[in-house]
Amino acid sequence: MTNYTHKNNSPSAGMRAWDRDVADLEQALDWDAIWSNVFCASENPNHQYIHLKFCHRAYITPVARHRMGLTDNPYCTFCTPGTLGSFVHVVWECPGIFEFWGKVIRTLNKLMGVQLPMDPFVHLLNDSSKLPDRKNTQNMAGRTDCSQKDYSPALETSP
Ligand SMILES: [Zn+2]
Repeated sequence: MTNYTHKNNSPSAGMRAWDRDVADLEQALDWDAIWSNVFCASENPNHQYIHLKFCHRAYITPVARHRMGLTDNPYCTFCTPGTLGSFVHVVWECPGIFEFWGKVIRTLNKLMGVQLPMDPFVHLLNDSSKLPDRKNTQNMAGRTDCSQKDYSPALETSP
């Protein structure tokens, strides 16, 4: 049974949206692991808050701005016309962001001698249940979004 941390013990709208996205890929999220890892992603409360907002999709995207009547269309301003600016698009799929994540993950793989998957649910939600070797990689993936310095001193000294 999933341990939801929302009133009435029911999933938030953001959680339901994550569940729909992952179901489209014929996968499932481990919300118990995700909630357990929110506060392990970093010791910095600001980073923990960012992680919590990712879990609830509490960021304003082009789609959300359009729903609020603030813009004429719901499209990503960096992509070809007609590309929806959904939450997953702006934090994972948009080409510049996707390239960034690839660099982060390749750097971590090289520094840590592990093979983290290129999986948005691992890196955006810290769903450690999706890691191939949980013993060596647990919580490391979630730290890629907010506290790389905890694991990679080489990144701090790079120009
Ligand atoms: Zn885009």
